[in-house]
Amino acid sequence: MFHHFHDERKHYKGQGSISMSDFEAILMFVGLDRILDPKEWLKRLGANQLTNRDVCITLDDGLLCQFDVVLPVLDKYNLKAFWFVYSSVFEGGLGKFEIYRVFRSKFFKDIDDFYNIFFDKIFQSKFGNNARKVLEETDMVRYSKTFPFYSTNDMRFRLIRDRVLSREEFEIIMDAIIQDQGLNLADLSKNIWMSNENLAYLNRQGHVIGLHSYSHPMMLAELPFERQQEEYQKNYEHIQRVCGRPPVDMAHPANSYNDSTLKILSQLGVECGFKSNMFPRDDPVRDTTNKHTKKAGGRSVPVGDNDKLTRHGCDRVATCLVRDDPSQLNKSKYEIAREDHANIMRMMTRPVRGTTGN
Ligand SMILES: [Zn+2]
Repeated sequence: MFHHFHDERKHYKGQGSISMSDFEAILMFVGLDRILDPKEWLKRLGANQLTNRDVCITLDDGLLCQFDVVLPVLDKYNLKAFWFVYSSVFEGGLGKFEIYRVFRSKFFKDIDDFYNIFFDKIFQSKFGNNARKVLEETDMVRYSKTFPFYSTNDMRFRLIRDRVLSREEFEIIMDAIIQDQGLNLADLSKNIWMSNENLAYLNRQGHVIGLHSYSHPMMLAELPFERQQEEYQKNYEHIQRVCGRPPVDMAHPANSYNDSTLKILSQLGVECGFKSNMFPRDDPVRDTTNKHTKKAGGRSVPVGDNDKLTRHGCDRVATCLVRDDPSQLNKSKYEIAREDHANIMRMMTRPVRGTTGN
C-alpha cells in the first residue's frame, strides 16, 4: 500500500514520502515475479486461487505524485497497479487533509516549527483546557511503543486532532493558520491530485482504477447507511464515466467501514476490497472511536489479537497478502489486508534472523 512520493522538482518531500529509487528498491525486495497484474489478482481472487506468494501493488488517494514518480517505474518493469481514488477532488473539491500535509511539509523547514504554531493556536483557543487534559491523561509511552516512528510532537498533534477536535474544528484551526501565513487553499492544492485525463490514461494502459469513497471521510463507519451509499455511488459513477467501465475494486478510506459499507459494496457489484496495513495496526488514539465503530457493527479487531497480528505482519513481505489464517486477517473479499510501504522498508533494513552471525 503506497501513498506519497517525492522527486527533485514538483513533489515535496514530506513525512512518510518516498522517492522513485525507494519504490524501485521495494519492488526488488518483494520480488518482481511475485507481483500480479491487478486483473490477474481479481481473476485469482474470484476463483479462490490466490496463494500466500501472490502480491499486488495498490496506490491510494489519486495523488499526482504517484502518476509522476511511480508510473515510470511501473512502465520500466511492465507492471500494473490498483489505483484507489476519491472523486470529490476530481470535481473541484478540496481534500483538506492532503492540503494541510503539503502546507506542513512545504512551508516549514522543520515540522516542529509548524507544530509550535499549531499548539500555540490551540492552547490560546477554547480547546486549550481540553487539549491539556488529553495530553496529560494519555499514556505516551504506550503510544510511542505502538508508533515508534512518531516524534513526541507528532503524537501530541495527532492526539489533539483526533481526540480534542472534531473534523470541522480542526479544519477551522488549520484554515486560520494557513490564512495567517498569507496563503490560500486553492494555491496549496495545485499539483496534489491527478486529473480525469490521468485516470483515463491509466485505465487505457491496463491499470485498474477503484473506489475509495467520494469525499474520503475519516470515519466513514460512523455515517448512516444512506450517506455511505451516497459516498460510494458518486465515486462509482465518476470512475465509470471517466474510465468507461464500472469499478469492481475498492480500498476503505482511513480503514473505516462497517457492515453497512460491505452491504453497499456488494450491491454495487464490487469484487475485491482492501483494508489498511496489518502492522502497526492499532492506533491508541483511535481506541475510543473504535469502540464506537464496534457498536455500529465495525470490524476492528480486538486489541488482544495485537501480538498475533504483529507477528504475522513482520514475518511476511507483501503489499497485499492472502494469509494462512484468513479468518484473522482477510475476513472477506472486502477486507483484504495490506502491508504499508513503511513496514516493508523497515523489513528491508532489518538483519535477517540467523544470518548475521551474532
Ligand atoms: Zn485514502
